[in-house]
Amino acid sequence: MLNLVLFGPPGAGKGTQSQKLIDKYQLVHISTGDLFRAHIKNQTPLGKKVSKLIADGELVPDKITIDMLEEEVDKNPQAKGFVFDGFPRTIPQAVELDKFLESKGSKIAGVIALDVDKDELTKRVAQRQKESGRVDDQADKIQKRIDEYFNKIVLVLPYYDEQKKLTKINGIGEIETIFNSLCAVIDQY
Ligand code: AMP
Repeated sequence: MLNLVLFGPPGAGKGTQSQKLIDKYQLVHISTGDLFRAHIKNQTPLGKKVSKLIADGELVPDKITIDMLEEEVDKNPQAKGFVFDGFPRTIPQAVELDKFLESKGSKIAGVIALDVDKDELTKRVAQRQKESGRVDDQADKIQKRIDEYFNKIVLVLPYYDEQKKLTKINGIGEIETIFNSLCAVIDQY
């Protein structure tokens, strides 16, 4: 199995690159953000529970997020591998993901972090808000989510660095150029 974590701040291009990766490597894309947004749209009990947190740009508690992610993995028993996008965002999530995959005789092959500076992110997410109308992309929430990434979520990276699984790549430039850099890393796994 080829399991990847695509890591990066809001607006780094994780969604775009994930889509290209699943096409090329025949993987299943699991974006916890997309899953939460689908729950909210469908007004499920989980959606109702998390909608305010997400609209406010806050993280959803680990237990809720982990349970949802594991359920999604279990829905895809035939998968050749997964691209985890937006997960893990905390150390407990990373530890649990390792345990969960190990219980299935599998593991994370590598973690690729897309490097994009704050100014570029703010511009990109503002543009996305105009196009998609995501509630958590509104101006005041954008800054909070970007700061949350640089202050807290990055603390997950040393966990993977210690396991020698982390690669950082430049996330600014043409989509195709960034994709080629990602593939070059993945082809070494
Ligand atoms: P994203 O689309 O990945 O930026 O996620 C949108 C929102 O969903 C985040 O701002 C969080 O509120 C929530 N969320 C997504 N993934 C996670 C996660 N791994 N842990 C906690 N909250 C998450």
